[in-house]
Amino acid sequence: MSVRRPRLLLHICCAPDATSVFERLKDRFEVTGLFYNPQIEPMEEYERRLAETKRVAEAMGFELIVGSYDLDLWKEATRGLETEPEKGRRCEVCYLFRLEETAKVASEKGFDYFTSTLSVSPHKSFDWLQGMGQALSAKYGVKFLAEDFKKDEGFKRSLEWSEKLHLYRQDYCGCLPSSEARKRVLAEQQESYEQFAADLRACRTCEDFLDPAVIFEGGANRPLMIIGQAPGRHELASLRPFSGPAGRKLWSWFVDLGYEEDYIRANAYITAVAKCYPGLGPSGKDDAPPSSRQKKNCLPWLEAEFSHARPKLLVLIGSIAAKTILGKDAGMKLVGEKIQKRIWGRKVFVLVMPHSSGLNRWPQMPVNKPRFERALALLGEELKRYL
Ligand code: SF4
Ligand code: SF4
Repeated sequence: MSVRRPRLLLHICCAPDATSVFERLKDRFEVTGLFYNPQIEPMEEYERRLAETKRVAEAMGFELIVGSYDLDLWKEATRGLETEPEKGRRCEVCYLFRLEETAKVASEKGFDYFTSTLSVSPHKSFDWLQGMGQALSAKYGVKFLAEDFKKDEGFKRSLEWSEKLHLYRQDYCGCLPSSEARKRVLAEQQESYEQFAADLRACRTCEDFLDPAVIFEGGANRPLMIIGQAPGRHELASLRPFSGPAGRKLWSWFVDLGYEEDYIRANAYITAVAKCYPGLGPSGKDDAPPSSRQKKNCLPWLEAEFSHARPKLLVLIGSIAAKTILGKDAGMKLVGEKIQKRIWGRKVFVLVMPHSSGLNRWPQMPVNKPRFERALALLGEELKRYL
């Protein structure tokens, strides 16, 4: 005879956190989700997080109740606390606001338990939730499940699920004050990048260049980073990376995937293993690779660019870029492979592409066509996730 599992109403703060909590509870409880987060602003962000939660509910197979968007009520409850720092008094009120609605709905609909995914995040206090949950349990007559879901690698598991389901991960908690605080951090990071970029533009370490223009383009916090080999004559003339025939080929890949060059330039950090023109190659063509000295001198700059850009997706154009970032054994054999790697302390998704300049000069592929097509398809998939 099968025993009925107790019914549990799970308050869901966001899709990524719902994954690991549902996975943990599903064998012990009959879980129903409740998306109740009226503090999220702006509306597009609210809708995006809700759509992602619906996607998780469908993928993992649980019922989802969508609460009302009581933004005015939430603002009334937190009035006067707008300038509180994160984890301060406003957050305490915000937890209680959402948890009380969960306890209320659980009581009205006859659930045995209620709890919240809020404890998954390492930034969220379980002690607060526990105290509130117990008080609300007494008030509404529904048991509170006091489990700290960040324990036993709950947060790590939510990251793994996010990866698997390609979930959107927000970069601020949700309310307008948290969004403003995040914007201030981004502005500071951009300011620090601009100081760094001025230093890089003034670099003359490899002092034997005829024209010491240092060519790169971007800003802080770019989801995509593109690294080529070195600028050519066209780049030297325009002072923009990938602005010559090789660039046209590169941008045509993005256009085929539905992204205009201007859009990519606005969202990407674009640079090279060496940022100054190495001169003509031995054949007299505009394809000289950077010298060993140039590569060595420029590597610390590249690392610093990477740490300012904080990319999620790294596209390496050509084997010199691939070897510089992935090691001397890397090369065109990695075209079409999905690589996830920790680079300079940051976990990123890496794609290796053939050098577009080579493709221009020798229209026969330096890698076979199915492999190249696989690489383009992967690029398309990853751009959808990050741009
Ligand atoms: S920072 Fe997060 S928990 Fe705190 S009030 Fe804003 S949305 Fe609520
Ligand atoms: S190649 Fe790099 S290290 Fe050398 S001068 Fe240019 S920016 Fe400086």
